[in-house]
Amino acid sequence: MATTKKPKTVASPIDERETFVSLQKTFADSESSTEEKLKVLYDLQNADNEIEKLVQLRGELPAEVAALEAEVAGCNERIASLEQIIAQYNANIASMNEDIVSLDAEIEKYRQQLENISNSREFDSINKELENLGILRKIDEKKIDESREAISDNKATIQRVNEKLDILGIDLEAKKEELAVIVESTAKEEKALVKTRDDLAAKLDERTLSAYNRIRASVHNHLAVVTVYNGDSCGGCFNTITPQRLIDIASGKKLVICEHCGRIIVATPDSAE
Ligand SMILES: [Zn+2]
Repeated sequence: MATTKKPKTVASPIDERETFVSLQKTFADSESSTEEKLKVLYDLQNADNEIEKLVQLRGELPAEVAALEAEVAGCNERIASLEQIIAQYNANIASMNEDIVSLDAEIEKYRQQLENISNSREFDSINKELENLGILRKIDEKKIDESREAISDNKATIQRVNEKLDILGIDLEAKKEELAVIVESTAKEEKALVKTRDDLAAKLDERTLSAYNRIRASVHNHLAVVTVYNGDSCGGCFNTITPQRLIDIASGKKLVICEHCGRIIVATPDSAE
């Protein structure tokens, strides 16, 4: 079950107490015997442990694949935005070219007028116009050159990003394949374990199951159900268990929660099982 809690946080026993009180009540009210439930919880914990071992086989691969995929997506976004910039420069060039065509038409018109002028004032004024139009034309040409340069810079960047994408793609494919091989090799086993787990979980009432999941999520080793360690200690936190509690655990008929770490402590099931 997914958890948002930080792995190393050990839940405060006092906060969890409320849950335990209701949990203990649920156990008392329940139709199925406490003994049965404790057995189910123990088996459930074992199934979860096995599933976790399989997941751990995948190691860092899933995270690495996700990171590579994010990097690839980032590169593709970068390329898309660079292409947009290039398109804008091309649109600018097209509009400058249109501008030059109309400037040329105007220049041509003034040049023809120059051929039929009657006085020097007119001559000066037309030449002034021609000079201005020439300047505007030069500005357009300069802008076109600058746009072309920017386009070629952006294209070079796209090429670099594409080269990076090629390398990332090879890396990603390799990691994906590696992960797929591991997942496939354990898929059958995992499916069976998940089914066992789900079947066991279905035997528990909602409250007990949610308490189990909560304890599991709150302890760093994900063990919600532990056995007695070394005769008198909690198998989760290794704190000493009081003699009365040890008797309760051994009876197998009472739900015992470690007062130090909040884990459920059960007797080790008979080896005959
Ligand atoms: Zn403990």
